[in-house]
Amino acid sequence: MKLQDLPLEFKEALPLLERIKTAGFEAYFVGGSVRDVLLGRPIHDVDIATSSYPEETKAIFEHTVDVGIDHGTVLVLENGHSYEMTTFRTEDVYVDYRRPSSVTFVRSLKEDLKRRDFTVNAFALDENSQVIDLFDGLTDLENKLLRAVGEASERFHEDALRILRGIRFSASLDFDIETKTLLAMQECAPLLEKISVERCFIEFDKLLMAPHWSKGIQALIATKAYAYLPDLQETVGYWQAFLNKIDNSYVFQSSEQAWVAVLLILNHENPKGFLKKWKTSTQFQTRVSHMVAAFNSRLEGGLTKRLVYQYGLDLIREVEALRQAVGLTADFDRLDQLDAALLIHDKHDIVVNGGMLLSELDLKPGPQLGQMLSAIEMAIVDGNLANDRETIMLFAKQYLSLMTKSS
Ligand code: ATP
Ligand code: MG
Repeated sequence: MKLQDLPLEFKEALPLLERIKTAGFEAYFVGGSVRDVLLGRPIHDVDIATSSYPEETKAIFEHTVDVGIDHGTVLVLENGHSYEMTTFRTEDVYVDYRRPSSVTFVRSLKEDLKRRDFTVNAFALDENSQVIDLFDGLTDLENKLLRAVGEASERFHEDALRILRGIRFSASLDFDIETKTLLAMQECAPLLEKISVERCFIEFDKLLMAPHWSKGIQALIATKAYAYLPDLQETVGYWQAFLNKIDNSYVFQSSEQAWVAVLLILNHENPKGFLKKWKTSTQFQTRVSHMVAAFNSRLEGGLTKRLVYQYGLDLIREVEALRQAVGLTADFDRLDQLDAALLIHDKHDIVVNGGMLLSELDLKPGPQLGQMLSAIEMAIVDGNLANDRETIMLFAKQYLSLMTKSS
């Protein structure tokens, strides 16, 4: 099959293929970008596979960066773009069902395509726009089917991450998983325990963020793959609830929001502890646990200025959107009004600080000062106190006399 209209990204990269050919080697576009062009989707990275070995590739191009030379990958910088150029390779020795313990460079395109995970990820495209399809991936594309290259169970034994990749591709492409491939996923799912948590997180996160995540969750249920992922061992039943409770056409707006949905449906009590097991960054853990807390406060206390102040407009917007996705009421207009009515958005916006209070009121630093500052902050947030120096000082004096009286 010949591609009629080459997208700009490939056209721009054609001279690279030509240069490698002139040097006496083979080179092709490969991987996800070829699949996406065939599906009429926008493409991101253009990956190139070549018969030249890394040292040979580096000799052909002026500007290269060693990004993964052990795996045969050289980054080539050319007219403002960068391209990953990877030597044809097989991955033949697997230890522990993880990554290959050694990579063998080969000169044959076929060997390289054979080690790829799914037929629709195993196309190559040559400089004449000819699609090379050794595993009948074009038929699978047409039928929207995800099928392992070769013997599925063998391929998942080699690298169990492919199970999760398959589930997330079904979600991002809206493809069904071919029966034998699905059965092999089921059979090999326990091997996921041996895969690094970080790699699992990347795939699970992409699954949640995919437009057809519900298809991925169905595959997750069918394969029981969840049972071999961090802290999800006991979650049978919850994934059906995930499908039932969240509008299946909803597209999550951020990773944080997607993981909040997971935590809420699982009814997990310790978001940070859960995300720690997934080895996520502390920043991510903090943002997700804030959003869970905000979601719960919103449930109990409604939409208030304090809520918007405490968590910020952007975060509460995501909470509202998630509420809508689970069939609760959402009020974006009111949210904007509350935010616009806030006199401060941060305690540093207050025109009076601790030092000023200490000197004007002749106080000593201590817990009393902290309490007074938060009383001032909340009174301003609630709209009961103007953010001006005189009014705040007056408020502080009254506050102080009340405190002294009551102690
Ligand atoms: P995306 O659009 O999400 O980037 P992609 O297909 O480009 O999807 P990548 O993870 O970028 O996926 O990998 C590029 C290509 O490398 C894949 O299309 C596939 O051919 C091959 N590949 C990646 N990971 C594996 C793996 N674990 N096993 C086999 N082949 C893989
Ligand atoms: Mg890619």
